[in-house]
Order: sequence, then structure tokens, then C-alpha cells
Amino acid sequence: MAKTVILGAGYGGMATAVALEKSHQPFTIINKHEYHYFTTLLHEPAGGRNQFENYSVPLRDVLHRAESEILVASVNALRPQENKVVTDSGEVDYEYLVIALGNAPEYFGIPGMQDNALVLRSLDTARQVHEHIENTFKSWQEDHDDTRLRILVGGAGLTGIELCGELAEWMPELAADYNLPLEKIELINLEAAPSILPMLDEGLREEARRVLESKGVQLRTGTAITKVNPNQVELKTGETIDAKTIIWTGGVRANPLIKEAGFEVDPKGRAKVNEFCQSVDYENVFVIGDSAWFTGEDGKPLPPTGQAAEQMGSLVADNLIALQNGGSMQAFHFNNRGTLASLGAEVGVGSVKGIPAKGVSAALLKEATKVKYLWHLGGLRMLSEKRGQFKRKG
Ligand code: NAD
Repeated sequence: MAKTVILGAGYGGMATAVALEKSHQPFTIINKHEYHYFTTLLHEPAGGRNQFENYSVPLRDVLHRAESEILVASVNALRPQENKVVTDSGEVDYEYLVIALGNAPEYFGIPGMQDNALVLRSLDTARQVHEHIENTFKSWQEDHDDTRLRILVGGAGLTGIELCGELAEWMPELAADYNLPLEKIELINLEAAPSILPMLDEGLREEARRVLESKGVQLRTGTAITKVNPNQVELKTGETIDAKTIIWTGGVRANPLIKEAGFEVDPKGRAKVNEFCQSVDYENVFVIGDSAWFTGEDGKPLPPTGQAAEQMGSLVADNLIALQNGGSMQAFHFNNRGTLASLGAEVGVGSVKGIPAKGVSAALLKEATKVKYLWHLGGLRMLSEKRGQFKRKG
């Protein structure tokens, strides 16, 4: 098989790699870390549900074959005209490239946001969120500064809402561990749009609001953040709120390397692809997941989700094999399995195949998606290694 290079070991890149390995096809996968982490679950360890080691897996534990080359390196530039990628470990040539570089935070040019807010986009940033909150709360005893006990989360999409659900359950534990006044702890979500979770039906949004408010989360919709100073946000209304923890979950865009390389991109910096997930600019380049600007059957760009990335990843592996064996490539059809948002460990909200789910049943459905994913990655062994994901640490 021609030299195939996969960039990124997120959901999309891993799906391509696993499928190629199953078909005994060689490839090189280039990733910043020697592990794959579970991006859609980062709110869980960030909010202290359980240990960080349950949320990543060494690439070699999944990709066993000697022909599956793993290069731990950061991609610094793409040179599609020369069939090359530039990494911090040197240049790598390819005949076929799969770009699966994930996303970067979308700051919308909000002054001070990038410098003064934490984000939740990798295992490292999830750990930063967790440690920052713990240290900030702990030091309340030194000066009794109540802004240490106020957490602001900007954005009420899935990331912001799932994080709030998790943090809300952690607050009583933190208060008990560090002898803090629980009544002074404030967890405030600031959302510019008129409602939270716009992708869900109104009834489910109301249910999510009810659950989160019952856990003590303040949900302030119609409240746009316009500027962020150190330990302070400024709102469109002119109001300011001081807080020692500010977390931005206001949206994502594609990895900037794609636009820098000259691919045709959408306003989110995603490379335009055809029905085969093949770049419209270079036919030996496939682009998947959050990196891809794929127009769905409804004529709208597909939103960036883990399930779309996985499905694209498997399809591209098949298309790579077909291309080289003189077969015909298959078009991508997104199989939308639904959307589930956890609102803490034991309650959730969402819909699966158009059927609404809430409460414990939504939480259980979400747990089932974890089981399925771990099974797909490494069968029973992976499930038993990562079983810590399924119980709150005690
Ligand atoms: P998002 O774009 O879905 O939500 C961001 C929210 O921030 C929006 O509601 C937006 O109105 C708000 N916002 C933007 N600017 C603001 C401002 N200045 N002040 C206040 N609020 C502001 O982003 P996300 O939640 O990070 O999700 C990104 C993608 O990842 C989505 O496609 C989502 O579906 C997907 N995702 C899926 C899951 C899951 O399936 N469980 C979990 C997380 C993310």
C-alpha cells in the first residue's frame, strides 16, 4: 500500500488507524502525545468524577501491528503541494494523507478571552481546570476572598452544560474537603443566546435547566461576554463579574494549520471535502472530523461531533483501500445516533434516534456509548482497564 500518513489520534484519526490495521494495511499516525484521549468526556475528570488515567489510552495498546508506525510529534505545517508535512521531529513525506487534527477554541476575537480564561479541549487543559479550581478554593482560607469561590463558565453548548453538571456535583465535596462555606460557592453559566443547548427540543432544554438549577447552577441566558480581564468578565449589558475561575466553552474552529496551508475553508477554518471526505483541492488528501467542511444531505455543513469523526474515519480507511485496489470509493452518509448531554454522573438529557431521553435513562444511554467506544477500541481488555470511568471515585 502507498505510504499513508494520518495526522491526529483523536476519534477520527483513531477510527482510520483501527480500520486500516484490521485490514492489515500499513500507515504512520502522527500525534502530539503517545496516547489517545476521550475528548467528549473531558468534563468528567475536570469536575472530579474520577481519575484522569481513565480517560486516555496509549496508542500502542490499540495499534499493535509493527507495520502501524506511531510518530509522537507536533505537526507544525502542511505542505500539500509537496506531499509533505512538517513536524517538530522533521519532515514526513506521504502518498496519501488523512487530516484529523481536531479543533481549537473559537474566541470570536473577544478581547482578553484567550489570555484570561481556561478552556476544556484536551486532557492537559482538563487537568488545568481541575487543579485551578481545587487550588483556588483551597486558598479561600487564607484571605476569605469570595471571588475564589465563584466559577464562571462562558457558553451553554454541550461542552459548557456538561461541565456545569459535573462541577455542580463536585462543589459539596470541595466544601467538605477544605471546610468552605457551601452557600458562598457560585457556579454561573453565561450564554449569549436566548436558551441553553439550542440543538435540543424545547422540552429537553427546560428539563436540563431544571436539573442544573436544582444542583445550584445559575444559568444566565441572553448574556454575552464582551471582554475578559484577569479575574473579571465584562458583559454586553455593561455589568462586570469578578471571579478567580473563568472557563471558556463558547465554541470551536478547525486547527489553524489547515487554513495556513491554503486549503479552501469555511468560516470555521475547515477544509472543503467532497462526498468521499476527499479534499476538493488535493485528491490524495482526505479530511475528517472537526477538520472537515462536509455538506450534509440537508445542504448544511455537518457540525463537529465525535460520532461524525469516527464514522468519517472508518469510511476513509475503506476509501483509501478502494482507491489503491482499483475499487470505487463510497460516499459518506452521517448516521446520526443522537445527542446526549450528561448533567452530572446520574442524570442526563438528550435524544437517541429521535426519541427523547432524560434523567437516569439518558445517563445510562450515555454510559452505553462509552462501553461501545471502549469495546470498539480494544474489546473486553480495554473495558476492564478503563472501568474506573463508570464509577465516581470514592
Ligand atoms: P457550541 O458552539 O456548541 O456552543 C457554544 C455556546 O457558546 C453557544 O451556545 C454560543 O451561543 C455561546 N457563546 C458564544 N459566544 C458567546 C459569548 N460571547 N458570550 C456568551 N456565550 C457565548 O460549542 P461546544 O459546546 O464547545 O461544542 C462544540 C461542538 O462539539 C458542537 O458541535 C457540539 O455538538 C460538539 N460536542 C458534542 C458533545 C456530545 O455529543 N456530548 C459534547 C461536547 C461538544
